[in-house]
Amino acid sequence: MADVSPAPASDLEAAPPARRAALTAALLAPVRRIPETARKRAGLALLMAFALLFPLIVRNAGDIDAAANALAFAMLALGLNIVVGFAGLLDLGYAAFFAIGAYIYGMVGSTQITPPWTDVWQPLQWLGLVSRAHVAGGPDLVHLHVSFWLMLPGAALAAACFGLLFGAPTLRLRGDYLAIVTLGFGEIVPIVVRNTPDWTNGPMGLNGVNSPQMFGFRFGVTSIPYYYLAAVLVALLIFVSYRLKDSRIGRAWMAIREDEIAAGAMGVNRTRLKLMAFAMGAAFAGATGTFYVAKLGTATPDMFQFPVSVMVLVMIVLGGMGSVPGVVLGALLLQLLQSWFLQDLTQWVHALGRLVGSQGLQQVELVQTIELIFGIILVLMMLYRREGLIPASRTTAPLSLTEQAAMPSRGGIGASLSGIRDVPLPAGTPMLEVRGLTKRFGGITAVKDLGLTILPRTVVGLIGPNGSGKTTFFNLVTGLDAPDAGRVFLMGEDVTGLPSHAIVERGIARTFQSLRLFANMTVLENVLVGMHARTRANAVGAVLLPRSVRAEERDTREWAMEVLAIFGNRLLPRVNHLASSLSYANRRRLEIARAVASRPRLLLLDEPTAGMNPAETMELAEQIRSLNTMGLTVLLIEHKLNVVNTISDKVAVLDYGEKIAEGRAEEVHRNEDVIRAYLGRTAAARV
Ligand code: ADP
Ligand code: MG
Repeated sequence: MADVSPAPASDLEAAPPARRAALTAALLAPVRRIPETARKRAGLALLMAFALLFPLIVRNAGDIDAAANALAFAMLALGLNIVVGFAGLLDLGYAAFFAIGAYIYGMVGSTQITPPWTDVWQPLQWLGLVSRAHVAGGPDLVHLHVSFWLMLPGAALAAACFGLLFGAPTLRLRGDYLAIVTLGFGEIVPIVVRNTPDWTNGPMGLNGVNSPQMFGFRFGVTSIPYYYLAAVLVALLIFVSYRLKDSRIGRAWMAIREDEIAAGAMGVNRTRLKLMAFAMGAAFAGATGTFYVAKLGTATPDMFQFPVSVMVLVMIVLGGMGSVPGVVLGALLLQLLQSWFLQDLTQWVHALGRLVGSQGLQQVELVQTIELIFGIILVLMMLYRREGLIPASRTTAPLSLTEQAAMPSRGGIGASLSGIRDVPLPAGTPMLEVRGLTKRFGGITAVKDLGLTILPRTVVGLIGPNGSGKTTFFNLVTGLDAPDAGRVFLMGEDVTGLPSHAIVERGIARTFQSLRLFANMTVLENVLVGMHARTRANAVGAVLLPRSVRAEERDTREWAMEVLAIFGNRLLPRVNHLASSLSYANRRRLEIARAVASRPRLLLLDEPTAGMNPAETMELAEQIRSLNTMGLTVLLIEHKLNVVNTISDKVAVLDYGEKIAEGRAEEVHRNEDVIRAYLGRTAAARV
């Protein structure tokens, strides 16, 4: 899709942008001819060669050290990117996990903690994790020197546990509230560190932290080995980030970022996934902390204050939230700006000051103004380039007329979809049964003592004036709202009060009246999220990609394409377009496709044809009918009576939250109460 050639150079008066695009295309043509994978590989190889040769090229220890630090910040940015960029959880206290990782290694890799020796320590001594130190005139002490290589994953794991601990009570909060709570954690951790001097040496900081050792070679204070280690770690974290991003887990995170409620309604367990993002981000920071403290040999609480959290956040905003190469670039740029460019610039300003004899200029210290510079960067990015230097989602060129015409025409819904099967229920069991369902919002009773039975394989139309409680009824059935009274049974099982993701798992999928697509995800990704409840891959599987996960991913994609094909050429040619770029009618179709992807038994459609013209409406009605023929039971809220009449086996009418009529369409239309509800009392009298 990315290789779609630009619109043919128009012979009409070519506007300057079009001409420029044509010129760029001509220049890039030879590059374009190389297949995309080969291009990517070549780019990657060049980048790796550069990273490898960098210390040999610059040769200046200070510069290599700055590069190693910049890479450490790239690791932090990659971690925070999972939390903020992927899952959309604004974390203002990310430095807390950096501190935790640093102090955990600092404490077990230095002589800060020296308990008296007892034989309990013996096994650890055999393992080489501690040693027995003789002290003149006192009892023997334990010296901890747990290996750096052990603590790199160890501290990551520990930080992840803290992530779970901090996240569990707070992740129910959203947006601003979450940001404020995380800000609190970011403040608490350095305070705790400062006030537990026995463990952390308080404000003075830890000293003499062991540097890593490899094959008998100790890293010490030379920067080259740290540079290479950091480069390897960054490469590893980039790999992990990419694997996660393109997986079931990554898509669920992005779904939460885009629309939490819709994510839940598509089967994403929001609490679990948010905790996972938080823990994963914390793990990245924990490993970075260990690296950083080992490199410096020291750690003080001041190294992990609020400005660090802000700096990492600025890196992400600069590079592009959610974009893996973007955040790495952002981190490297900002860190190198700080350590190289600002120092050089300060020298130049001083020189200028001497030249023009200005005292003021000679005293400027630009490095001190870094926070001001961060602020300016943030303002400029928000004003001119919100998506960052390397945006996370590429915009796809709209389809040309020829492309649209070349696609097979509409109406191509096949006789069956492989994933929708009609599994017969025990005789007499309704697909859905609600009894006495009631929901109040303050003084309004939106749904009042509602009872409704929906038999398998039927299409039931739910109609009623605006505000009669239809959408609220859907929310109660799908777990978005909890009823004040009454029960909901799905295929005989009581599902009242279950969270929305559990209800999708049991077989109810829905669409929303006010569209709730994942706007910044592609059409295909939207549908893939719909499959969340039917797939199993976890984070480890997503990273390691064993055969089973690969197979699952392939099947999921095949199924998604099959579902998109329900709508013929409406969605298929646009699979790689962002959902936000779709027309209104196509968005409605995509919502239906996303719901069908979850392989439901019962499909709830909330005004699916709203905003469609008569031809599109009838097309959709036909498609809903065919879904029903394949075995889906459908409950449909609809205002267009011709649709309701043609496809419903039964119609139920709500008014002020109460069911006022139920039966075949023509019976219902003759019902006095229904006419009154729709047209008012006088009209009913005239009929
Ligand atoms: P319909 O879908 O039939 O048009 P709704 O179910 O959206 O009707 O609304 C039914 C009634 O409940 C309306 O009076 C509406 O104002 C009210 N209502 C719906 N949701 C809420 C809510 N979250 N808070 C307060 N009132 C609500
Ligand atoms: Mg409604």
